Amino acid sequence: MTPRVAITLDFDAIALWMVRGMTSPGPVSRGEFGAYAIPRILGSLRSRDITATFFVPGHTVETYPEQCRMIRDAGHELALHGYVHELVSTLTEEGERETIERSVEAFDRVLGVQPVGLRTPSWDFTAHTVPLIEEAGLIYDSSLMGQDYEPYFVRKGDACPPDAPFVFGETTGIVEIPVAWSLDDYPQLEWLKSDAGVQPGPKTAKEMFEAYFDDFTYMTQIQPGGVSIATFHPQVLGRGQRMLHFNAYLDRLLEAGAGFVTCEQVARDFLAAGR
Ligand SMILES: [Zn+2]
Repeated sequence: MTPRVAITLDFDAIALWMVRGMTSPGPVSRGEFGAYAIPRILGSLRSRDITATFFVPGHTVETYPEQCRMIRDAGHELALHGYVHELVSTLTEEGERETIERSVEAFDRVLGVQPVGLRTPSWDFTAHTVPLIEEAGLIYDSSLMGQDYEPYFVRKGDACPPDAPFVFGETTGIVEIPVAWSLDDYPQLEWLKSDAGVQPGPKTAKEMFEAYFDDFTYMTQIQPGGVSIATFHPQVLGRGQRMLHFNAYLDRLLEAGAGFVTCEQVARDFLAAGR
């Protein structure tokens, strides 16, 4: 069995800062860097013949159409990621529906792409998220953490009463491609000052990619047919030493016999296997 790796890149660009109300030139330029770094990231993937999945807010599609067309033309998957990177937990049902519809329209108009999957910004759900994913005709989500190396079907209608056992809702046909904060470059590398204090970005890229590779190695030991799902952000990943270690990580994975897949492929394989 070929152990698989899904490289996923959240191309948040300026939307990541807008949603925090940070629209002055400083934070905006951090978002801009994500667009600037797209060609070098695409170059790393192209030279190794690796296909990835880019989760892109509708706002980024409209702000950086050229970079999004480069991603599309290189054969990578483009999938939904909110309109302006909204925190879904703050949205009404109608507001959440609007972020999906507005983004689908932007993907179609700007790129001629019909996305089949979604990753919610900041990896959160409301009670409406799964029904809205079904309504939009998507086949997968990639925002939850209930498993690690294997997709699963998401539930809807869960309940968490304060004085009784958790109530598991109905299993749907939407495939979950699980994520993990320990496999996300943003909290590990990026510096951020907020009301909660300063998030220093405690790791060097070398340490982080060592951990990413260890995660893959463990998968080959216990679940060789699984898929390791790694998350990156072009505005975080694209800088100097991080790209150096990203390239080394990809080379190590190739030497270890990894096969690279998009999230759409993972979801379709899972559905085809009838699990
Ligand atoms: Zn994001």
